[in-house]
Amino acid sequence: MELYSLTIHELQDKLRAGEVTAADILTSVYQRIDQVEGKVHAYITLMKEAAQAQAAAADAAIRNGDIRALTGIPLALKDIYCVQGFTTTCGSRILHNFVPPYDATVVEKLRAAGAVFTGKANMDEFAMGSSTETSYFGVTRNPWDLTRIPGGSSGGSAAAVAADECIAALGSDTGGSIRQPAALCGIVGLKPTYGLVSRYGLAAYASSLDQIGTMARTVEDAALLLGAIAGHDERDSTSFKADVPDYRAELARSKGRWRLGVPKEFFGAGLDPEVGAAVKAAIEHYRATGCEIREVSLPLAAEYAIAVYYLIATAEASSNLARYDGVRYGRRSAKAKDAVDLYYQSRAEGFGDEVKRRIILGTHVLSSGYYDAYYLRAQKVRTLIRNEFTAVLRDCDALLSPTSPTAAFKLGEKSSDPLAMYLTDIYTISVNLAGLPGISVPCGFTTGGLPIGLQIIGRPFDEAGLLSIARHYEQAHGWYSKHPSL
Ligand code: GLN
Repeated sequence: MELYSLTIHELQDKLRAGEVTAADILTSVYQRIDQVEGKVHAYITLMKEAAQAQAAAADAAIRNGDIRALTGIPLALKDIYCVQGFTTTCGSRILHNFVPPYDATVVEKLRAAGAVFTGKANMDEFAMGSSTETSYFGVTRNPWDLTRIPGGSSGGSAAAVAADECIAALGSDTGGSIRQPAALCGIVGLKPTYGLVSRYGLAAYASSLDQIGTMARTVEDAALLLGAIAGHDERDSTSFKADVPDYRAELARSKGRWRLGVPKEFFGAGLDPEVGAAVKAAIEHYRATGCEIREVSLPLAAEYAIAVYYLIATAEASSNLARYDGVRYGRRSAKAKDAVDLYYQSRAEGFGDEVKRRIILGTHVLSSGYYDAYYLRAQKVRTLIRNEFTAVLRDCDALLSPTSPTAAFKLGEKSSDPLAMYLTDIYTISVNLAGLPGISVPCGFTTGGLPIGLQIIGRPFDEAGLLSIARHYEQAHGWYSKHPSL
C-alpha cells in the first residue's frame, strides 16, 4: 500500500515507530495529487509550500518526542474556512481573491494538533448544492466514475479523500453536505451536533443549520479528527460548553446491543431499489448481532423537511450574504456608475445563478406580508420536527436510514431542475433542522460499482455512541479497504 492510501491511525503508528517521516507522507500525497488531480479536480487551491513547512515542523516535533493527535497528517480543507494568508473563495467568483487575515477556529485547532494542510477543496458556491456543480471554479468528478458528480456541497473534500489526494478532510453540513458526498464517494462523513464544533471563521450560509464536520476513510479516523476540532469557543455564541471526550478511546468501550430505530417513511417512493437493499442488509447486520431493531415513524420530517429547510436556509442566506457588496470583501465590479450601482453590479457579476435564486427566495420569505405565512410557519414546523426526533430517540439509541436516495448521478443530470436537486437531501436535511448528529458510513456498492451510504442519526452530543454504532458495522464489512481505480 502507498502511504497516501493509509488511514490516520495507520500513518501515526508508522510515524511513532520511526518507519516514515511526515515529509515522506506529504511527498506521497502530492505524487498522488499530481497523478489524479487533472481527472478529479478536487481542489481549488493547493498549499504545497506551506504544507512542506508544516511537515518539516511535524518531523522536528516528532524528533523532540512531541506527537499530537494529527502530527504530520495531510488534510484537505473545504474552501469555506478562513485560512490566514490563503484565498478562501467559498466556490464563488465574488470571493475569488479574498485572503483572510485570520484562521478559523477549526484551522487553529488542527494546526495545534500538528496537522498538515494539502489545500482548499472545491465546493458548491457558498455550500448551496448537492453536486459541486455550482462552483465558480468548475466541477469535481466522482473518483469512482468520472462521468458522475461527487455529491455536494463538500464534494471536493469527499473526492479528495476517496481519490487518496489527502488522508482526511473537513467539510461543512447545512442540509447534508458532509453526509451525502461521503455516501456518494464511499467514505465516512460525520456531521456533529449543532454547537459541538465552533463555526468561527466558517463563511456563513444558514447559521442555525451550518455545522463543521469530518470526512475520513474510517470511523476511527473520524473519531480522531472530531476530538481535534470539537469544544467550546467563546468566539461562536452558539458553541456549546461541553467536555470533549476521547472519542477514539470511547470506541473501545462501546457496549453493543443497541436499540435502533428505522423510520419507515425513509424507505418509500424515490428510494433507489439497490440503495434500499444495501441499507436493509446493513440493518439486518445490526439485528443479527444482537441489536433491537424497531420501526419508528417521522411523518413530519418526511413530509415537510425539504420545504421547511428551503424557507429557513434561504432566509438566513439572504441575510448572511448581504455582506458581499463589492466594498468590504472580494470582487468589486469595474462597471459601476455610482455607489448603489456598485452593489448591484458586484453582486450580479459575483454570484452564480443558484446563489441568486436563494437570495431572492430568502428575501421574499422575510418580506413583510410573507414573513408570517412562510418564515414564521417554517420555524414552527421546525420545532415540531425536532420534537418528533426527540420522541423517537427517547426509546432508541440511534436511527438507521439511507444517506441519499440514489448513488451518484451523472454530471449535468439535475442541474437544470433545482427541485430534483433539492430532493437528493430528503434523508439528511431533517437532521440539521433538529440539530442532531448524523454519520454516513459506506454500506456497499451498486452493480455499476458506485458507493452506497448508511446514515446513522444519534442523540444530541452523543457522538461517542454514534461513532461506536457506526464502527460496529464498519468492522464487520470493511468496505473502506476498497479504493477507486483511477
Ligand atoms: N444541498 C443542500 C443545499 O443545497 C445542503 C447543502 C449543505 O448542506 N451545505 O442547501
